[in-house]
Amino acid sequence: MLRDFRWRIAIPYIILILVVMAALTIYISRTTWAAQQGALEASLKGEARILAEGAQSVVIEQDDSAFDDLAQQFAELLNVRATIIGPDGTVLGESDEDRSQMDNHLNRPEVQQALQSGEGSSIRYSQTLDTDMLYVATPFDIGEEVAVARVALPLSQVESNINQLQNALVTAAIVTAAAAIGVAILIAGRTSRTIHRLTEVARRMAAGDLDARLHLPAGDDLGDLTQAFNHMADELRERVNDLDDERGRLTAILDNMADGVLITDATGRVSLINPAAAHLLDVEEDEAVGRFFAEVARHHELIELWNYGCEQSEGQAAAVEISRQDVFIQMIVSPLETAGQEGCLVILQDLTRLRRLETVRHDFISNISHELRTPLASLKALIETLRDGAIDDPPAAQRFLERADFEVDALTQMVVELLELSRIESGTVPLLLQATAVEDVVVPPVERLRPQAERDDIDLTLDLAANLPPVLSDSDRVQQVVSNLVHNAIKFTPSGGKITVSAVQDLNDPAVIFSVKDAGVGIPANELPRIFERFYKADQARSGGGTGLGLAISRHLVQAHGGQIWAKSKESKGSTFYFSLPLAGDYDSD
Ligand code: ADP
Repeated sequence: MLRDFRWRIAIPYIILILVVMAALTIYISRTTWAAQQGALEASLKGEARILAEGAQSVVIEQDDSAFDDLAQQFAELLNVRATIIGPDGTVLGESDEDRSQMDNHLNRPEVQQALQSGEGSSIRYSQTLDTDMLYVATPFDIGEEVAVARVALPLSQVESNINQLQNALVTAAIVTAAAAIGVAILIAGRTSRTIHRLTEVARRMAAGDLDARLHLPAGDDLGDLTQAFNHMADELRERVNDLDDERGRLTAILDNMADGVLITDATGRVSLINPAAAHLLDVEEDEAVGRFFAEVARHHELIELWNYGCEQSEGQAAAVEISRQDVFIQMIVSPLETAGQEGCLVILQDLTRLRRLETVRHDFISNISHELRTPLASLKALIETLRDGAIDDPPAAQRFLERADFEVDALTQMVVELLELSRIESGTVPLLLQATAVEDVVVPPVERLRPQAERDDIDLTLDLAANLPPVLSDSDRVQQVVSNLVHNAIKFTPSGGKITVSAVQDLNDPAVIFSVKDAGVGIPANELPRIFERFYKADQARSGGGTGLGLAISRHLVQAHGGQIWAKSKESKGSTFYFSLPLAGDYDSD
């Protein structure tokens, strides 16, 4: 009950009212009692004096029973008990009792007082009447001696008056306390209702409903409290919204970052991981959070670096190759303190592409050096042979010069192709795109190479589907691609072989698919993905001569047209090279 706000307010009031009423009752009872007793005593004193005067006159009559008669008359008249006590304490006259039975009254306090100071009073319990009595005594002279006249009245009347008064006061106290309880409960109830509603609103806010508000008119304390509460709620919502915005921005940045970001807490568990980090470590984001870093990284070098980096005061970085996924990661670990908690920030950078580019560049340089070295060494040898005397042998000199010429041509061809490739790669070769009939891009290069095929006893067949729609192309460039593919096919097909050049319409896309099929040496499966790289030559083909740039150039040209190029091959069974070109469609060449 005491936990209830209403009672907490009401009970002190009730206690206060009861204490005040009790004190008031006691005080009023006492003062009333004293006043009533005083008044009674004063009137009894007067009556005692009258009785004394009466007794004095009886003394003159010298009649033995005269005192009794006087006492009785007096008692009847004034409705009191009257007693006349002789100088030796003997009761001479008595109104209410048999005086022969009464003991000596000299030592009664009121008698003693009267004898000493002229008047005496006392309150005593009367066993005869079973009540408190007020006795008042006055001396009077009997000759030379002093007797005492005494009147007494039971105090029961005064007591009943006081009781009545007390009852009235207690009733008033109870009624007032009850009214106070009612009023206190009413006031406290209203206050506590508002507090309960505020508590409810606070609970709803804690549960996430930041729009919950309580509306009370301002003015009183609770109204002001409610307004302050609402203001606090507004501020809170604003802060939470700001935090949400910030978190949203941070999440967007983390989600879209190319670098992986991972945070571990003081216990070494992952508390945050972004998609890039999850991808690099090949784990699911949801599963990684809450697990130990070692479980998530699963790579001893990463774990060692993380361990070491977390203990250092400065960030540590190292590049690690994770062979499992064929990825190359640079990891930077720095200790991190967030909200007083120690942790670690791990940044993961994917260096795989950079590494690959580096490898390509490295291969390119070593390839180009290799490709240049062979004709240059051969030229050097030819020049030395000529200088050593062959120049004086005209037929031999002629042969050497022709060989030198061939090598210079090969070198020139390579430089031309390299320049061409670099221009195509950098996008500086403009394509003159227009609607072109398929025959126009296929027939000229095939016919140009036909004598070479015939010389090698190779059957070169053209197989174009009927009614092919025109393609969108720069005819010269596409002829260059066809020429490259047919030239390769002738180069890698032994004599007596067969080459088929065909074109069909793509069933899935608005494109025409061209193919050059040979029954030559084929390409090993592991080399097939690399043949479109610059300078790449499959081992078996080394003998075929050539720069290794033809397919790289073809790929760039086809891609510049918006097409695709690919190859299928089986070693020693033959290869088929395909490329697609988009249809001209509604393209208007103007
Ligand atoms: P190259 O000038 O050496 O022919 P390419 O770029 O045209 O250079 O070809 C690259 C490599 O691809 C060749 O060295 C060869 O190994 C392989 N290749 C190309 N076409 C064929 C084919 N029709 N049959 C077998 N191998 C081929």
